Amino acid sequence: MSHTKLFIPGPVEVRPEILQAQTAPMIGHRSSDCDALIARVEEKLKQVFMTQHRVYILASSGSGLQEAAMRNGVREGRRVANFVNGAFSLRWHEVAAGCGKQAVRCDLPWGQPVRPADVDAALAGGVWDAITVVHNETSTGATSPVDEIAALLRQKYPDTLLFVDAVSSIAGDWIPTDAWGLDICLCSSQKALAMPPGLAFAAVSDRVLARAQEVTGRGWYFDFLELERYLVKSTTPATPAISLLRAADRQLSDILAEGMPARVARHRRLAEMTQQWALQHGFGLFAAEGHRSQTVTCIENIPGLDYASLSKFLKARGLAISNGYGALKGKTWRIAHMGDVSEKEMQELLDALSEFVKS
Ligand SMILES: *Cc1c(COP(=O)(O)O)cnc(C)c1O
Repeated sequence: MSHTKLFIPGPVEVRPEILQAQTAPMIGHRSSDCDALIARVEEKLKQVFMTQHRVYILASSGSGLQEAAMRNGVREGRRVANFVNGAFSLRWHEVAAGCGKQAVRCDLPWGQPVRPADVDAALAGGVWDAITVVHNETSTGATSPVDEIAALLRQKYPDTLLFVDAVSSIAGDWIPTDAWGLDICLCSSQKALAMPPGLAFAAVSDRVLARAQEVTGRGWYFDFLELERYLVKSTTPATPAISLLRAADRQLSDILAEGMPARVARHRRLAEMTQQWALQHGFGLFAAEGHRSQTVTCIENIPGLDYASLSKFLKARGLAISNGYGALKGKTWRIAHMGDVSEKEMQELLDALSEFVKS
């Protein structure tokens, strides 16, 4: 079967053995086998998220958990600040508004990180239930120092919860949820975890569960208190995505066998290779220096380079990268280097790009 190797920022390549794990026969979701499967997956997720607390597992994409954060973490009449420095942080603001929350949009330049000073300036003098920040803005290739933001909140805004979208960076960058003090850290299965799409995971602090007690209109499917009641028994309120859980069980074991430090270091090397390639071939990098993503590189296009021709050239070689996102389409294009990609595979892609640029 002909196959286009994906270097797009999700879904990413999934190894055959992980795809294969999904083909095992069904089991009942109220069976002890299913409880054991969920317990194994959650235990491994806790290691990947570096948390002692809990990781909820949902049959949804990552955006579902952006909604869950808003429904559980923000009280009626209280405010949430959404820091917007790209398309996915903008989505979180739209989700907050869509949930009927008092959502304040704090715009920052795209390509820049969200810095603690930006957060301090926006929150000063106010009372806020929560803030939302995207750790790794997949649309711009900029990573924000959420550890420093968490430290600022602890020091100056101790009652404000920190909700972090790490959709495209969990398992590709170093994100110790507990050590940094993130209240919600969420991600999707189809990015740096290199699983098929369809699952979403969120590490959730005790502070969020305490807050949820005071929030009305939490809904049902994403109600953390309901999810907690079931997760303590290693089960779920609704039918879980059993086949995807089998893929997760296998892939998380492989991720932990590689080791998180080694996995993160490999992503760093892939990012450096890609950034160097771009700079050596006369391209600019869209994200601010010092804040460039480990998992996706957003390259500024140069005059005369037609992205459609580039994409076609790569397609003929069984390779795919991604155009710029939304307003950045045509102005930038993106190479994802996340998941299980090896340096050799990355070099093959970069060689093909060099060949195109020379022609
Ligand atoms: C892909 C992505 C999302 C959206 O995730 P879905 O799983 O498609 O809902 C949100 N945030 C970031 C940073 C992303 O990269």
